[in-house]
Amino acid sequence: MTLESVPDRYAVIGNPIEHSKSPQVHALFAQQTGQAMQYERLLAPVDRFADSVHEFIAQGARGANVTVPFKLEAFALAQERTPRAQAAGAVNTLSFSADGIKGDNTDGIGLVRDITRNAGVPLRSRSVLLLGAGGAARGVILPLIEESIAGLVIANRTQPRAMELAQQFSHSDVPVSSATFEQLDQSFDVIINATSASLDAELPPLPDCVFGPQTLAYDMMYGAQPTIFMQHAAQRGAAVRDGLGMLIEQAAEAFFVWRGVRPETAPVYQWLRGQL
Ligand code: NDP
Repeated sequence: MTLESVPDRYAVIGNPIEHSKSPQVHALFAQQTGQAMQYERLLAPVDRFADSVHEFIAQGARGANVTVPFKLEAFALAQERTPRAQAAGAVNTLSFSADGIKGDNTDGIGLVRDITRNAGVPLRSRSVLLLGAGGAARGVILPLIEESIAGLVIANRTQPRAMELAQQFSHSDVPVSSATFEQLDQSFDVIINATSASLDAELPPLPDCVFGPQTLAYDMMYGAQPTIFMQHAAQRGAAVRDGLGMLIEQAAEAFFVWRGVRPETAPVYQWLRGQL
């Protein structure tokens, strides 16, 4: 093998990691675009994230995706951060070069692209309810604001976290506020479930009035069957969508960050849907 033909190395780093679908997604992107790259799963011990990244860099790696529970540590490790990583306070995409470690966050743009392009629902001038105030919720706020939505309400089980998050974005052009679930008294055009409640087959305690016939109810979680949140929303007349498209779109954006090439996501979505 000549030096030129050695594929560039990437990985997804997390703990646990064996469930991650990112290696299949990036392998399909690489095949489709003819990029010489190799993408693996890297299990980092919970207390050795930074060491694991440095060891990977020493092996010649060019970049990595970061997943649970390391997105905040990746943010801290990055020597340079993009504005969207800065706004998210978390990093899911690392690029390694002679200049050091650069941190980015592609989760939010992945969600926005899945809603606007794949689901065909424009976000401009739409009212949005965001459920949750964890890492995933935080990461989507700036990309939503950049779509010029009409307004954003954040509701979370632990309300001070929602208030803190709304406060952080209070100076943006779009009104951002927080509410308790009980305080919600109007319907929304788009409701995004960024809580992990669906993982436990639980529902945030939402009043029925939030769902209208024009509502898109989006669950960041995905699976072979509609999540309990999607079932609940559909029974109340909303259109529903799960987070598989977000997963693929955030990966496509990371691929673009690293390789400068945009893969086509639709065939990868179809393939992965069939694998669930
Ligand atoms: P975090 O642990 O950071 O946050 C969890 C959030 O869920 C908190 O706001 C928490 O509220 C809330 N929550 C947990 N259980 C319940 C419940 N029973 N009722 C109401 N609220 C609850 O997780 P992340 O933000 O990292 O992830 C959230 C979800 O998004 C996960 O399901 C994850 O799989 C998904 N995700 C999907 C992606 C994709 O590409 N499709 C990308 C990233 C995330 P509190 O503050 O009160 O604890």
